[in-house]
Amino acid sequence: MPGMGFDALARIKTVSDMTEAFRSEERCRRLLEQMVWPRGRLCPVCGYRESMALRGRDCGGIRRPALYQCANPDCRHQFTVTTRTPLHATKLPLRI
Ligand SMILES: [Zn+2]
Repeated sequence: MPGMGFDALARIKTVSDMTEAFRSEERCRRLLEQMVWPRGRLCPVCGYRESMALRGRDCGGIRRPALYQCANPDCRHQFTVTTRTPLHATKLPLRI
């Protein structure tokens, strides 16, 4: 499906491809961001197309996915790629 952002997943053909693709939290997060935001990052609250990356937080020793802040002055919502998805509640590493 062109433009859907699944290219990186479509390239995974074997178990070793998969292991490589999901080797680190950083890679998992980028794959996830491609799936959630195939046309670029969107604020989950107002749908604003511009946001800035904030420094990632450490929560109990587990690195959380990168945090973004909506650039809409009326919103300024802080979100991550898992905000408003079932993954948001989990503290498990993304690769799981
Ligand atoms: Zn917003």
